[in-house]
Amino acid sequence: MGRSADLPRGLVERYRAGPGGWPEDTGCPMLHVDMDAFYASVEIRERPELRDRPVVVGGVGVRGVVSSANYIARRHGVRSAMPTVQARRLCPRAVFLPPTFALYQQVSAGVLAIFREITPLVEPLSLDEAFLDVSGSLRRLRTTPAGVGAEIRRRVHAEHGIVCSVGVGPTKFVAKLASGLAKPDGMLVVPKTEVTAFLHPLPVSALWGVGKKTAERLFDVGLETVADVAAAPLPRLRRMIGVAMAEHLHALAQGHDDRPVVPRSAEKSVGAEETFDTDHHDRALLRRELLRLAERTATTLRSRGLRGRTVAIKVRYADFTTISRSRTLPVATDVTQEIYRTAAQLLDEQTPPGAVRLIGVRVEQLGAGESEQLALDAPEQGWREADQAADKARSKFGDLAIRPAALLGKGPDRAGTTKPGPDR
Ligand SMILES: [Mg+2]
Repeated sequence: MGRSADLPRGLVERYRAGPGGWPEDTGCPMLHVDMDAFYASVEIRERPELRDRPVVVGGVGVRGVVSSANYIARRHGVRSAMPTVQARRLCPRAVFLPPTFALYQQVSAGVLAIFREITPLVEPLSLDEAFLDVSGSLRRLRTTPAGVGAEIRRRVHAEHGIVCSVGVGPTKFVAKLASGLAKPDGMLVVPKTEVTAFLHPLPVSALWGVGKKTAERLFDVGLETVADVAAAPLPRLRRMIGVAMAEHLHALAQGHDDRPVVPRSAEKSVGAEETFDTDHHDRALLRRELLRLAERTATTLRSRGLRGRTVAIKVRYADFTTISRSRTLPVATDVTQEIYRTAAQLLDEQTPPGAVRLIGVRVEQLGAGESEQLALDAPEQGWREADQAADKARSKFGDLAIRPAALLGKGPDRAGTTKPGPDR
């Protein structure tokens, strides 16, 4: 969705939790928890002197993209996924910072650990948001779903120094919408009996799965709100937007959403990529960049207790031709050097020379680290211990504390356009 910030907030204030309590939450076991301006908030936590200033995290080069902006910067129109140069024009006073992924991963793991103390039914969607189903935990915790939400907000702030918003509802769809409308630093509780009252005034774009195109098509035929979609005859909707989409939206608009929370620690793949400010021919430089990306990828894998069997690289040339190559290893890995070695071989053996605009590393076929057969050969074991020591130092002192020697002082001019972070 990602557009809930544009929804009419006045309509939803009666669902907001306040010091006096919250609306009826019986039968509302679904929570959606979302960190507010996550990357920017973590950076501000590290530098409290920035608290009252506009702060933008993202690629700082000419092709850089905003990953996260605090709410002061957003007042100037800065948004995530916006080119950094545009953000600079909108808010020249803002403090622009490159992302510190290792630190975000560490905070994210800490927040997820809080969730998992409450319930095993935790479904992370990204580093900074997750669904929880708390139905099985209420008796043990002697509380209600909104009580859990309030406690999560208190603990995330007390233990990690950042703020999150929470949506509480009978379904995932309602919980997710509610957290978006609760922002910043709020909680919204949508009672089971008021789901349609809550949904119906919202614009059709609030419906999960409605992109710009579908929204325009619905708008063209006069379907502007969720209530309009709920009231539309299903055969008419089917003709307009196709059977599957029509049935999906019709059900959502009536408040039906039976998707369960799927506990999940793993994504399908983990990776990192970099767009350069200027195109690069130099293979030594590209290999150094692969080492840096392998390091970031492996750090992510380790922070989530994952290993992967397939290492893939992506190379985009100046003319936008893109080549992807992968190799499957005998044993899954989370070791920087192993990922790097495989990626570098793929680069050397399977990509033609030429000016490169973007390069990326990805690890696929993921599994939980513990269940994987351990590769106990001495060199790999040594590397893993070195990696773990580095993770610790990085999370304490920042990304620059520990770099493989090949990276020291030799970074290319980076745009730092790693995929824009989830930033709500
Ligand atoms: Mg967020």
